[in-house]
Amino acid sequence: MPDLRRDPIVGRWVIISTERNARPKDFIPVLPARPLAAALCPFCPGQERLTPKEIMAYRPQPLEPNGPNWTIRVVPNKFPALQVEGDLDRQGFGLYDRMNGIGAHEVIIETPNHTDSLADMPTKLIEDVLWAYRDRMIDLKKDPRFRYILIFKNHGEAAGASLEHAHSQLIALPILPIYVVEELEGAKQYYIYKERCVFCDIIRQELDTGTRVVAENEDFLTLAPYAPRFPFETWILPKRHESAFENSSSHMFENLARALKNLLGRADRVLDNPPYNLVIHTSPVQDPTNDHYHWHIEFMPKLTKTAGFEWGTGFYINPTPPEEAAKFLREANVEENAPVTVG
Ligand SMILES: [Zn+2]
Ligand SMILES: [Zn+2]
Ligand SMILES: [Zn+2]
Repeated sequence: MPDLRRDPIVGRWVIISTERNARPKDFIPVLPARPLAAALCPFCPGQERLTPKEIMAYRPQPLEPNGPNWTIRVVPNKFPALQVEGDLDRQGFGLYDRMNGIGAHEVIIETPNHTDSLADMPTKLIEDVLWAYRDRMIDLKKDPRFRYILIFKNHGEAAGASLEHAHSQLIALPILPIYVVEELEGAKQYYIYKERCVFCDIIRQELDTGTRVVAENEDFLTLAPYAPRFPFETWILPKRHESAFENSSSHMFENLARALKNLLGRADRVLDNPPYNLVIHTSPVQDPTNDHYHWHIEFMPKLTKTAGFEWGTGFYINPTPPEEAAKFLREANVEENAPVTVG
């Protein structure tokens, strides 16, 4: 069982994978990794036996689980960072805190087609992926051991994807991760001071100035944040206050699928199909409805390397001003959703 350990200075939790127990030689690359042929891909239809037994799947008709004919399939990660069975068992050793590495680690296989990418899928199928995220979050929230559920996507090898077949991941955690704590606390402080949600205020101001707006539809605003860490970092926010992703009303899933497809299409056009990471930041499990936190998607194309200065400081050097990044993305020629006019 993995170990969860808390840094006593900053309060950051880490997962120490005692089982994998990688030795020095395990970190020395042997051969450059080559993409797996569809015939060997564990995420392709017909090869369901290569994954752990499915947790959930969307099939056009009710069919036997673990067979083909699915459109989306959710399976436990074969190499989970955390283990779902067991009790939390919090312990202290002198000044150190630890607990068992309890958590869920799931893979959402977004399409049966080996070569499709999320950006190229029809909006309706992207919407189904978002529904699958929601269904899994709602199910895992029933487990009282979990405090936070993170959905994320690594696209492309440089962004950490080990398999080419389009997929995203979900990790349910028994702790609140430090980046989320920083956002929650910052948003709470702002709320205490102003009695307004900082994200709602950002949305109002960005719509007003327009220089960092990438796109917008009825329910969502896509923008380059004022102080992005990475070039072309982009956020998608629901325009009306909503603290938890999974509580969004049903019509929003269609518009979120449109916003997401639109952003990925623009990024592919401007940056030539970049590798990227995408995360959904939502409220903690125990506090799903509040006035200060506003769920959102953060999209981070992998264009630069994080090096000594950033690791040493948490202080990022971004070579692309967000106003420029927004302009490039806004002016990219994508079919659906013509770019918004801004003044
Ligand atoms: Zn495949
Ligand atoms: Zn808000
Ligand atoms: Zn965030």
